[in-house]
Amino acid sequence: MSSAFRFAYRLRLLPQRHHVFIFHRVVAERDPLMRLLPTVAEFAQQLERIRAAFTVIPLADSLDRQPDGTPTASITFDDGYRDNHELVLPLLQRLQLHATFFIATAFTDGDLMWNDWLTEAVRQHASGELDLTQVGLGKTLLSDDIEQRRSVLGPLRQKLKYLPAPARMAVVAQLRSLVPEPPRLMMNASELNAMQAAGMTLGGHTHDHHVLATLTTDEARWQIQHNRQRLTELLGSAPTLFAYPNGKPGQDYRREHVELVREAGYRAAWTTEHGAWNGRSDCFQIPRFTPWRWDGLGFARQLAEISFKTPQLLPA
Ligand SMILES: [Zn+2]
Repeated sequence: MSSAFRFAYRLRLLPQRHHVFIFHRVVAERDPLMRLLPTVAEFAQQLERIRAAFTVIPLADSLDRQPDGTPTASITFDDGYRDNHELVLPLLQRLQLHATFFIATAFTDGDLMWNDWLTEAVRQHASGELDLTQVGLGKTLLSDDIEQRRSVLGPLRQKLKYLPAPARMAVVAQLRSLVPEPPRLMMNASELNAMQAAGMTLGGHTHDHHVLATLTTDEARWQIQHNRQRLTELLGSAPTLFAYPNGKPGQDYRREHVELVREAGYRAAWTTEHGAWNGRSDCFQIPRFTPWRWDGLGFARQLAEISFKTPQLLPA
């Protein structure tokens, strides 16, 4: 079925667009609190599907490539999770695939992203009341049942997601005290260097991973520039590719942020708006997507749908 996509593309029955896949994490075994994260075995199959349908090229190479009837795609990972080095890199190497990793640099010394502080608090807290009234999130009852904990995690995460940055940081400060031994989830400096040495591309994703639209212009500029500077120090050369945190146009980033990314010295930037790139629209707002169906027929149908979709862009 994936080859049906390749065939239809060759015959130019599909628009000649470049597909960019976006992933975050892969786990060794199913995590009952985050059941949507693929296991290594599942992700290996997903990569095989991608490889059957596309010629996978480095993301930077997609920027000035002329369509020639060969369907091309790039693989990207956001945030900089440690499993990217531990589990994803060996798979990519085995299948000889290139990927780009967008890194939020505040977490390279062992800190967790806010969503993981929340997940680990809900995972590790003793049964009983999780009291977040002090920070405006009320009290949540946690039972011994992991399914019950999973059911409370989603709504808490949604509440936290669009809090202004200072309010969210206050919640994180309290969550820290509830997780005495946080796991090390993000790549450290030596792992980032190993990714680069293995031929992978590392790109910018802001320092703290705040949604840019929740920041003042000065804060947003600092987040973009400091992240780029940190990556330059860590890797020895300045990154040229950027991905917006969360990445929905209008909701998570605005026009001014597109300009800040350009001013910082980046060559191109990727959103999370669903779509495939026609090679002509704004290269600072290139769409990406994560397939949610990986069976042969479902995957091919999704690729076709995404090919025809007109992605939303912020106007110039
Ligand atoms: Zn991200």
